[in-house]
Amino acid sequence: MTEALALPIDIDSVKGFLHPDEGAALHDAARQASALGPCLEVGSYCGKSTVYLGTACRAAGSVLFAVDHHRGSEEHQPGEEYHDAALFDAGAGRMDSFREFRRTLARAGLEDTVVPVVASTTLASRAWRTPLAMVFIDGGHSHAAALADYRCWSPLIVKGGLLAIHDLFPNPAEGGQAPWEIYQLAVASGLYEELPRVRTLGLLRRL
Ligand code: MG
Repeated sequence: MTEALALPIDIDSVKGFLHPDEGAALHDAARQASALGPCLEVGSYCGKSTVYLGTACRAAGSVLFAVDHHRGSEEHQPGEEYHDAALFDAGAGRMDSFREFRRTLARAGLEDTVVPVVASTTLASRAWRTPLAMVFIDGGHSHAAALADYRCWSPLIVKGGLLAIHDLFPNPAEGGQAPWEIYQLAVASGLYEELPRVRTLGLLRRL
């Protein structure tokens, strides 16, 4: 990074799975893309990526839509590898990351920039018509979930806009393949120019 990134809160205090290098790259990308319109992320969880993206959108006078049903992805469910008992709503018997997400937005001063969309990607996109300057996909990592995120949101990206995908593992021994598969689909479509990857973060510019 050319300059130190100033965030409104200590980003380590936000639960999540995003490396600071990836966060900084997301922030840079959103700063650039915001001139073209609003940005959207899928898979907000407790808001770590939201802080990076939302801070950039705020500086640019833009808006970030944050899509997440907040019931946790497959790997967040009880008994799974990334389950966090503090995010389990015992009354409802389900995961609930929305409360923590809202707390992050308030702490970061982003309630005037981020529009939480508490719904599945399929429902949120069903009547969506607003073109998007940037889409960040970091939702469910099953093949079906990743493919739905890609199919629902990528057609809305404007020319010159950005598609970002998290958790790319070209080597199957290192991680799940669904994000890598949709990244490959995007490349094969011929609609995007590949930008340098940052750790497991892929960035594509819509031609
Ligand atoms: Mg991720």
